Amino acid sequence: MNYFEYRNDQLFAEDVALADLAQRVGTPFYVYSARTLRRHFRVFDEAFAGTDHLICYAMKALSNLSILKLLAAMGSGFDIVSVGELMRCLRAGADPRKIVFSGVGKTDEEIAAALEAEILMINVESRPELHRVSEVAARMRRRAPVSLRVNPDLDPGTHPHISTGHRDSKFGVPLSQVDEYYAEARGLENLELVGLSTHIGSQITDMAPFSEAAAKVTAIVKSVCGAGIALKYLDIGGGLGIPYQENPPPPAEYAAAMLKPIRGLGLKIIAEPGRVLVGNAGVLVTRVLYVKETDVKRFVVVDGAMNDLIRPVLYEAYHAIQHVERRVGKLEVADVVGPVCESGDFFAREREIPQTRSGDLLAIMSAGAYGFVMSSNYNSRPRAPEILVDGTDVHVIRDRESFEDLIRGEHLVELRTHGD
Ligand SMILES: *Cc1c(COP(=O)(O)O)cnc(C)c1O
Repeated sequence: MNYFEYRNDQLFAEDVALADLAQRVGTPFYVYSARTLRRHFRVFDEAFAGTDHLICYAMKALSNLSILKLLAAMGSGFDIVSVGELMRCLRAGADPRKIVFSGVGKTDEEIAAALEAEILMINVESRPELHRVSEVAARMRRRAPVSLRVNPDLDPGTHPHISTGHRDSKFGVPLSQVDEYYAEARGLENLELVGLSTHIGSQITDMAPFSEAAAKVTAIVKSVCGAGIALKYLDIGGGLGIPYQENPPPPAEYAAAMLKPIRGLGLKIIAEPGRVLVGNAGVLVTRVLYVKETDVKRFVVVDGAMNDLIRPVLYEAYHAIQHVERRVGKLEVADVVGPVCESGDFFAREREIPQTRSGDLLAIMSAGAYGFVMSSNYNSRPRAPEILVDGTDVHVIRDRESFEDLIRGEHLVELRTHGD
């Protein structure tokens, strides 16, 4: 459910026509719907109603300050993976007591910043990290609230690049070592053992791996608590998929599957949804430059590119593509590609789309998650602006980058051209 819809054959973001927006800000651009964001947060939150819980939005999916501010105001906490994300949260007015810090490679500076900010907990992923957190906390004369991230060793049935719960993955601590880790952590007096966490992957559309993970972590929590460690939080991670092409179950079904074994533990549940909150709340709008016909193919060349949205080539991801001005009639097969000098620069391959002409505006749908945040300046392309629509209101929440932005921090140095 989202608020990108046709009205009189014109695609709208809430009450704003995308064609008008394109006139105003140029192309390509990202546009997000505030109403969709609010709705997604509410639906996800309600799925856990009746259970003591905290939603920590996995902000790596979309981290613009205004998006964070909106979610923080709705009561969301945040799952962060770097000190940069921590600073974004604090700048946006987030409550540090609702921040959890995930990731396999935290630096001393990042650990110190998290302790300084007094976040809810640090999700530790290895033995050396456990000791490092303890050392940094000791230096600061503090106790660090930590949670151990466990790897439940299962196959979440998603693309290998976004699967994190298998034993081959770099993430988490093997289930078989969890008891040992907690026993060891207990001896480190600058640590406070507050939780256990897991996260098995992303764009998961089948409930079975979630249920399996829930059952496995429930067993391990019982064992840890049985050993006399009074955990407070069980962090179930994120990963619920969205309908790019698939048909994932709604948050209520996901929550029910997860909570079934877990509920009886009496711990506060932390959920870290990313994609499911923001994915369908954003689209990338791009303009067709040329339609190029070869002997074997038709290429729709647009002004957006892989530097704006890398998911198609990185994860073989499918994004629906809609004409901003609705076309009816005959479909044709085309590759929708950008101007970047890489064969991997495509939004769709062999896609059936309505007849397309130079000048048409296309909306790459479901681009809110892992879209703008993964964009780059490859080919010296300025990053696209981000627009947030709320009813009839249009907010530019990030400007289009300029040439000066592109070269910021670079130095033109004097070098000899002869004499070696
Ligand atoms: C990326 C990530 C998430 C969010 O995943 P989604 O699939 O976007 O819901 C949650 N927790 C951790 C630890 C992550 O790395």
